[in-house]
Amino acid sequence: MGTRPLLNRRLAKMGTTIFAEMSALATATGSINLGQGFPDTDGPEEVREAAVRALREGRGNQYPPGPGIPELRTAIAEHQRHFYGLSYDPDTEVLVTAGATEAIAAALLALLEPGDEVIAFEPFYDSYAACIAMAGATRVPLTLRAPSFRPDPDELRSLITPRTRLLLINTPHNPTGTVLTADELATIAALAVEHDLLVVTDEVYEHLVFGATHHPIATLPGMRERTVTISSAGKTFSFTGWKVGWVTASPELVSAVRTAKQYLTYVSAGPFQYAVAEALRLPDTYFDTLRADLLRKRDLLLDGLTAAGFRAFTPEGTYFVTTDITPLGEKDGIDFCRTLPGRCGVVAIPNAVFYDDVDAGRSLVRFTFCKQDEVLQEAVTRLRRL
Ligand code: PMP
Ligand code: GLN
Repeated sequence: MGTRPLLNRRLAKMGTTIFAEMSALATATGSINLGQGFPDTDGPEEVREAAVRALREGRGNQYPPGPGIPELRTAIAEHQRHFYGLSYDPDTEVLVTAGATEAIAAALLALLEPGDEVIAFEPFYDSYAACIAMAGATRVPLTLRAPSFRPDPDELRSLITPRTRLLLINTPHNPTGTVLTADELATIAALAVEHDLLVVTDEVYEHLVFGATHHPIATLPGMRERTVTISSAGKTFSFTGWKVGWVTASPELVSAVRTAKQYLTYVSAGPFQYAVAEALRLPDTYFDTLRADLLRKRDLLLDGLTAAGFRAFTPEGTYFVTTDITPLGEKDGIDFCRTLPGRCGVVAIPNAVFYDDVDAGRSLVRFTFCKQDEVLQEAVTRLRRL
């Protein structure tokens, strides 16, 4: 093995993802886990039953088709048409992936060459940095700053160089909860067209919006042919463990992403695909109730965090609240999160890990509200002891 480090240079700084680290800390200390974003209640019973039925009936127990089962690809295309008026051919313009995580990896590995630059909102979801690195490309952060966490169009324009290949956007945005407005998307789209850039858009929180409206950037003029849209069943249907995600894009883009996907996982888990096809066809009331429940939880957590002395920023989307811990006399979110379980039995995520410019996120800490009301109540009671 010699003296050469085992982990390749591109991943050398990545380490363990903060989500795994903090969830392990929650388990070890018996704390309430408001760190990693996963619901503590499973999704709809009929969707669970659909998975069991598929498994029992032997549907999907052997390798399903590479692009995903036709029933699911059709349901994804129908979902895009129903909610956004976007029309995709299920056979050539839809690809099923192992969660949005694989969709992100396959898209970036397929579309980037070493040396390309990718502009992404900072703070970024951690897998973006890792996948851009694995592709040998360079990430260029467009920082969303407190208190509004909105992208500055002039800053975006100034970051574009002849090496820029791709804009990686995320709306609703994890961890800040920013939902891009129609105007912001129009500015981004105009720049993408002007500079002939690809856009990869992570819309996994598309149904988790409060007051704001989610607009897929693919609906904007000139964008459908240059945009890879990514989503997942994990957040919308509260089955984060199933890892069923998808890509919608032009045939050329889907074909590129599929080429990478084939050699990452080959195919995605079969029986869950049948269940997610049914989930996507749930009536609109399902999506409305999901949103209403989460809005109540958001406000419960926001009020509790404010009462406990945090400065809490109201998210328009996702199931995360970003806070500033400065009013508590604290400075460093990483230290704060490491000691929080011992101090009051709650786990959170330090936003600093999502920044290249660590100072920009040093005092910010993220809490999730996709937990039962009683759990959130108990968490804020504990946090008040700080
Ligand atoms: N993108 C964002 C912004 C996320 O928060 C998550 C959550 N895990 C993912 C992608 C990954 O989704 P999945 O669990 O479907 O892989
Ligand atoms: N998306 C979730 C979060 O941001 C879970 C991430 C993960 O487990 N990789 O907390």
